[in-house]
Amino acid sequence: MDRIPLTIADAPLETRDWIDIVEPATGQVYATVGDATAADVDRAVQAASDAFGGWSSTPASERSDRLYALADLIDRDTDRLALAESKDTGKPLSVARAVDIPRVALNFRFFAGAILHAEGAFHDMPGSAINYTLRRPRGVAGLISPWNLPLYLLTWKIAPAIATGNSCVCKPSEMSPMSAHLLMELIAEAGIPPGVVNMVHGRGERAGAAIIEHPDVPAISFTGSTRAGSWIARHAGAMLKRYSLELGGKNPNVIFADADLDDAIETSVRAAFSNQGQICLCGSRILVERPVYHEFVDRFVERARSLRIGDPLDDATQVGSLIGEDHLHKVDGLVRLAEDSGGTIRCGGKRAEAPNDRCEGGAFYPPTVITGLDAECDAEQEEIFGPVVTMSPFEDEDEGVRLANGTRYGLASIIWTRDLARAHRVAERIETGIVWVNCWMLRDLRTPFGGTKQSGVGREGGLEALRFFTEPKNVCIRTR
Ligand code: NAD
Repeated sequence: MDRIPLTIADAPLETRDWIDIVEPATGQVYATVGDATAADVDRAVQAASDAFGGWSSTPASERSDRLYALADLIDRDTDRLALAESKDTGKPLSVARAVDIPRVALNFRFFAGAILHAEGAFHDMPGSAINYTLRRPRGVAGLISPWNLPLYLLTWKIAPAIATGNSCVCKPSEMSPMSAHLLMELIAEAGIPPGVVNMVHGRGERAGAAIIEHPDVPAISFTGSTRAGSWIARHAGAMLKRYSLELGGKNPNVIFADADLDDAIETSVRAAFSNQGQICLCGSRILVERPVYHEFVDRFVERARSLRIGDPLDDATQVGSLIGEDHLHKVDGLVRLAEDSGGTIRCGGKRAEAPNDRCEGGAFYPPTVITGLDAECDAEQEEIFGPVVTMSPFEDEDEGVRLANGTRYGLASIIWTRDLARAHRVAERIETGIVWVNCWMLRDLRTPFGGTKQSGVGREGGLEALRFFTEPKNVCIRTR
């Protein structure tokens, strides 16, 4: 059985306790991962502190070369990384190979390029002084990520952190640690010095919390649930650390009657069920203007039913396994609550049969559509984070916007209309950090990424990430 130790300054560190890793598609334990204690985390922070001085004074062009080299190694090992990712999460292997792992390489290429073009600020006070602003890396960054897009989200933090000269202590989810473990071999092969990236594994409340509370970790970048994010804000905030939190969502997908329905239905199905609905950006609350509501529901349900649930290793599979049995029960529990609140289940709604013998113990749940719910009920308000969408009609633009804004979350939204003026108006009024008009998941890595309300604090991406991982220092020089 595979055994995944911590990696500190390029060396494996065995822990006292170990956690079983289950392959969600089969329900079988296939590996164990270390469960770090606060003392283990302290060793990782020490290694990162030791590496910081040398790495932060390495010229940006050299750091950039190392990151480009790493991206090339990720491309070389795409198949191996994709298989690890699929095995850990239950996502279709074809998707991991075509989407997740190429994006991992892109994260490194993007920030390798970005640091070559970074500019400083200069403010002139004619006749009296000049100001210039230095930006310096903060030190050891604590980087914590979830299980749904394991390496894609973790490297979205590692790349800007180390590109700007920080060292880091990372903690991927204890449910999906394998691809992060494999990445450490490539980091060493790319010539990134030992200790610049350290990989700690273990439970959030122990290993994760030890990173948050460590006095020598001044910056925290976290992606995960709103519940854990709120705990982190309290503790990191009390220590006056810098933190960036990317949290949960309950994203509205608003379809106006003038939309291109073919396009809206096809993309909305993708936005609902990609990665088994386990993407923070999934459009899980579908709001449809009354004149096209029935047509939209019928056609969407027909398309959702046609999606092929299968073994993640089968290239024809479109819907793989959920992350595990506990999560399946949480998803199913919210569907049962929706039913009890008077909702109608239009398709799916109960555990799917295993697609083959290998997947007999897997956590398969079909695409599920629920209509007829009150906007205030749990299924409309809580993040389900599974292949489940709710659908409701609205009468006019005002009501559409009001329903779209009617949750505590504010991560992403989708608007479908052919009316340009309305698209601008609704985008302005909608309370989310990201708005897609007539599209979903079109990502330009230069744009700010993150949510408002309970979906997060701060932004990732482009300049925002470069700023987060550096501390500004203004120097004012009198000129007379
Ligand atoms: P989670 O909050 O349970 O765990 C996320 C990570 O934080 C894991 O590594 C976990 O071990 C760690 N952790 C948990 N408690 C901690 C604590 N007290 N201190 C430090 N670390 C702690 O979330 P999850 O179930 O792994 O992921 C699903 C959630 O992540 C969903 O809510 C989803 O919306 C959210 N998410 C958000 C984004 C985004 O960009 N906004 C992206 C992906 C996922």
